[in-house]
Amino acid sequence: MIDLAGARRLLLAACPPLEPVQLDSAEADGCVLAADVVAPGNVPPFDNSSVDGYAVRATDLAGATEDAPVQLDVLGSVLAGSVADRPVRPGQAWKVMTGAPVPEGTDAVVMVERTSATRTEQLGAAGDRVEVRAEVAVGAGIRRTGSDVRAGELVLPAGTVLRPAHLGVLASVGARRVTGYRRLRVGVLVTGDELVTDGELRPGQIYESNRAMLLALLARANCRPVDLGVAGDDVAALRQRLSSAVRDCDAVLTCGGVSMGDSDPVRAALEEFGGLTWLQVAIRPAKPFAFGTLPGPAGPVPILGLPGNPVSALVSFELLARPALRHRMGHPDPYPATVLAIADAPLSRPHGDGRTAYLRVGCGFGPDGRLHVRPVAGQDSHQLSASASAGGLAEVADGRQVAAGDEVPVLLLS
Ligand code: AMP
Ligand code: MG
Repeated sequence: MIDLAGARRLLLAACPPLEPVQLDSAEADGCVLAADVVAPGNVPPFDNSSVDGYAVRATDLAGATEDAPVQLDVLGSVLAGSVADRPVRPGQAWKVMTGAPVPEGTDAVVMVERTSATRTEQLGAAGDRVEVRAEVAVGAGIRRTGSDVRAGELVLPAGTVLRPAHLGVLASVGARRVTGYRRLRVGVLVTGDELVTDGELRPGQIYESNRAMLLALLARANCRPVDLGVAGDDVAALRQRLSSAVRDCDAVLTCGGVSMGDSDPVRAALEEFGGLTWLQVAIRPAKPFAFGTLPGPAGPVPILGLPGNPVSALVSFELLARPALRHRMGHPDPYPATVLAIADAPLSRPHGDGRTAYLRVGCGFGPDGRLHVRPVAGQDSHQLSASASAGGLAEVADGRQVAAGDEVPVLLLS
């Protein structure tokens, strides 16, 4: 047996990051930058108004109060996207809307709420006068050039895992393309002569359950899932399907056929290809895990062999496959985080075999603001329906007794 950390190290070494490519930044949510992004220009690119109001010379308003307002001549109105055609001279103002460039000659914008227009109802027409009832400090109401991002500044460093706000930042500096790691195309091939996808079950058959689950997990892991269907337990046929899968996948997940049984074809197929690493990982469930690589058009393609029991497949994906795929997509930090939660019920399952249990737990926040967990009823590795309601995996080392009220590390499920 190998501990989880050791298994992860071996597996990640077999799943090196893909070559970075040019990504369309608007489509890159969840992808990782492979190069720094430096701002080619300032954001905002010009001084502009942060309010709807009047662009003025602050000195013109010295001494203005409610009782002694100052009157200014209005040269016209500047909307966001347009530009004033004349500079302001003493005693003049431009009406400006939020985002409009601050006209030449002005050094402050006074909010419309501190003013009242005179003469016409149509505010901001040339020839209007505006009455300003307060002083204004130089620079008030103005968003300065480069006050968000300065030209030449490092906007996002290599290694950034892009989130929606980052896509906005990239758009704001005009970075339409960025250098990063693309989404992996990951095939899912489930194996087993007993598996059927529809129709009446004949004796000995079961409905296949893991393909939909794994494809959905991959989509949530920011991969592009490729459904490779259901294979039987015939080793030659399986080899054939794996060989063709690696032609257009960056990784392949298989499911089933990696344990000690008589007909464990994934293990046998990978063995025949000559690149099998077969692990007994010290975790419960999901002890068996196999991986290897097959030659693809752009280099070796990792094949990750998950166990077939549905709960084992889920746990194996979260603990092993997901970090490996994240590593292949350039994540600087591929491992899942655990949070410390309070156990609301005992969580001890000592087996004495040295395997760390990943118990499926229901999760919820208590009035104390802490995460509270309790085990779902049905912890066997075929009981997927019980695990489906679990929000996390509680990590309990073999022999540890977690009593109600104790803290326990929990890995939150997506
Ligand atoms: P295996 O890992 O192939 O030895 O399978 C272990 C157990 O999981 C057996 O009971 C299989 O019938 C079951 N199993 C394997 N693959 C699937 C699947 N895709 N859907 C549902 N059950 C499966
Ligand atoms: Mg099987």
